[in-house]
Amino acid sequence: MNNKPTKSIALISVHGDPAVEIGKEEAGGQNVYVRHVGEELARQGWKVDMFTRASGAHQPRIVEHAPNCRTIRLVAGPEEFVPRDEIFGYRHQFVEALLKFKEKEGLDYSLIHTNYWISGWVGLELKRRLSLPVVHTYHSLGAVKYKSVSTIPMIASTRLKVEKDCLETDDCIVATSPQEQEHMRSLVSAKGKIKIIPCGTDIEHFGGIDREEARVLLGFESDAKVVLYVGRFDKRKGIETLVRAVNASEWRDDPRLKLVIGGGSRPGQSDGIERERIERIVNELGLAEKTLFPGRIGDRELPIYYAAADVCVVPSHYEPFGLVAIEAMASGTPVIASDVGGLQFTVVSEETGLLAPPKDFESFAVAIDRILSNPEWRDFLGRNARKRVEKKFSWKGVASQLGTLYAQLIEETEAVPLGSVSA
Ligand code: UDP
Repeated sequence: MNNKPTKSIALISVHGDPAVEIGKEEAGGQNVYVRHVGEELARQGWKVDMFTRASGAHQPRIVEHAPNCRTIRLVAGPEEFVPRDEIFGYRHQFVEALLKFKEKEGLDYSLIHTNYWISGWVGLELKRRLSLPVVHTYHSLGAVKYKSVSTIPMIASTRLKVEKDCLETDDCIVATSPQEQEHMRSLVSAKGKIKIIPCGTDIEHFGGIDREEARVLLGFESDAKVVLYVGRFDKRKGIETLVRAVNASEWRDDPRLKLVIGGGSRPGQSDGIERERIERIVNELGLAEKTLFPGRIGDRELPIYYAAADVCVVPSHYEPFGLVAIEAMASGTPVIASDVGGLQFTVVSEETGLLAPPKDFESFAVAIDRILSNPEWRDFLGRNARKRVEKKFSWKGVASQLGTLYAQLIEETEAVPLGSVSA
């Protein structure tokens, strides 16, 4: 317990609803981050309101997660799914709805923490109007993302400008890895304050079950060689690289080999289209019998899938942090990841797993073979992985570092004499 008076903070995640089902196209790491950070901050003595955009007419407007922690869904644009880049068009409505809610409930926030560039714009506007300290987490940087895609969207220049303004104007940016900080400095701006505080994971939720037990629960053979992917169906995630790597593996024709590709998708939407594309490749390569698509894996099953796997593969082309890697590591499963972004920070090659060049399926195949062929080494990597997560990536530790940062920024803001804050 903490004996400071409770301060209210607003976490803003316009497109990433912290109260929604995770694992679909628009719901991934950001939703998990905001929700866990919010809940943990509330446990540590903060009063937390998490604001997001209502994306369904029948969704509850307010979801209470825990004492002092709730999600508030504001109406900004149509109450239905809207692709993220289009959500920016409703930014003014979002700000007005938030201010109205705040006024109606008589709320006073001491600090605002925004997530992703769309919320970053909202934070800049609220900072201007309420003179509050603002912290921002990018979750993905346009300047890095646009380097790895073939078509640059129309919104790109707006996004890049907002991301630069956030870094130069907000009170502090939270980089989730040293690699992300480096990208901000080299690609966004030399100005502005940055603090590195990683993403976290629930170290009690993951890691409580052993491989044998998990395989019984999933109906997998005890001697199976299980290669696991968990995540959204999105080209950037590089699932194709994994499938081609399995096809090139020494284990390809071994009947024990099993490839599990977990993640939700909706037919006709972009994630559904990517899943169909991946299934086509699986079929073309003759891997259908070895490949399982369990669909979206719910929170209760996730620890079982991670524990059942010999190795979890994160083949992303670009990954600002990559929660899946630390979830697998927390479960005692080694990770083979692309040598990019936050994955270079979470996965220590040869100690907790292996890093391979992105899109290079042959290197991924070699890495998979090394781990599948040596169960003792697999277990050694898995134990190290678990230790690394316990030491560096628990939500408790992450939220406590964020809380310290908030307290410091609030104190600095309150110390500024009245009248010296420009409107
Ligand atoms: N996830 C899930 N079920 C699934 C697929 C993904 O719960 O079927 C979760 C996964 O456990 C992780 C998040 O979605 O917490 C994905 O976060 P990550 O940072 O790896 O990727 P992002 O989606 O942010 O690109």
